Amino acid sequence: MKIQFLGTSASPSTPLPFCQCPFCTIARKAGGKNLRRRSSIIINDDLLIDLGPDIMSSSYEYRIDLSVISVCLQTHPHEDHFDPELIISRHPDYGARNAKDLLIAGSRQTLETMDAMISRRCDYGSIFDPKVQLALGIKLLAVTPFVPYQINDYLVTGVPANHGSAQQGCFLFKIEAKDKCLFYGTDTSIINDEVWDHLKATKTRIDLVILDLTYGIGYASKPGDHLGAKDFIDHVQRFKACGLLKKKGEIYATHLSHEGALEHGEFECYARKYGFHIAFDGLTLKI
Ligand SMILES: [Zn+2]
Ligand SMILES: [Zn+2]
Ligand SMILES: [Zn+2]
Repeated sequence: MKIQFLGTSASPSTPLPFCQCPFCTIARKAGGKNLRRRSSIIINDDLLIDLGPDIMSSSYEYRIDLSVISVCLQTHPHEDHFDPELIISRHPDYGARNAKDLLIAGSRQTLETMDAMISRRCDYGSIFDPKVQLALGIKLLAVTPFVPYQINDYLVTGVPANHGSAQQGCFLFKIEAKDKCLFYGTDTSIINDEVWDHLKATKTRIDLVILDLTYGIGYASKPGDHLGAKDFIDHVQRFKACGLLKKKGEIYATHLSHEGALEHGEFECYARKYGFHIAFDGLTLKI
């Protein structure tokens, strides 16, 4: 399984466009791995997680053809993870040709919110309408939490995130292919006990954990929101102590904001002391 990060920032991008805090000033000056787009990843050239607002600019930089993506797992519909224009531009009105049909999988609440966001932007009709799906070349899959779905070569399980309101149906995803397993864990605050129980009960053995670290060093996690560094490190230890992470498994932080952040090289040194890594835009991992 090949995983490439298209973006690793929290919602405002990192550095923040309108901020002159010490971190944003350093990040802007240093450039490179310190410049982060909104979070999204691509797996094996055919599976995307989140139709975020920056996936086009990432795809241009990393020479990725998004028209061959056939599956999108949508964690949730917050604007830093879903840009409705990406779906709208698939309509014949835009003259787009020969894109692969796209299966969009997420919780029913996520799909319904995406539908409402699209309908505010155009009058093509509901994406739940088969005629509209045909025009856009999309199919929808409403995912029930904790139920595994075989999608192409992947066994995909959505689990509830500790993020947003209960009505928003935010998911984290476990993605298995052959003997490999990825756990994509953003956006979330402290992971719910039912998710830990599920991972243990299904004897999950993970090769790669990608986890929310929106609030960095010295910042507390916020319930229903995001993780801070202290709880992130507790999660690193818990994934290892529970035997959920394979011996050579790795944990990468993503969805990084400016609070409690360090220049990338320094942040990576800090992270290694606690047994994890800091992701950056364009990073490609193979598991
Ligand atoms: Zn987010
Ligand atoms: Zn700042
Ligand atoms: Zn969010």
